[in-house]
Amino acid sequence: MAKIKLEREKCIGCGSCAAMCPKYFEIIDDGKSHIKEAVKQEVEELEVADLDSAESAAEACPVQCIHIEK
Ligand code: SF4
Repeated sequence: MAKIKLEREKCIGCGSCAAMCPKYFEIIDDGKSHIKEAVKQEVEELEVADLDSAESAAEACPVQCIHIEK
């Protein structure tokens, strides 16, 4: 299993993560990214068996607030 972490406080809502990895990321009502299926909070985490494009999303994030733990 791997873990996707998102520091929502740093997110500027550019939308890159949701465009690159819509399986796990979406922009929600406050204009920031949210990990689908995770509890909405300041730092979100989700354990996944398949990272899909989450690593590409982390690399593309302009403020580096997406982290992948393997
Ligand atoms: S790529 Fe980063 S800054 Fe842009 S919406 Fe996603 S988490 Fe926020």
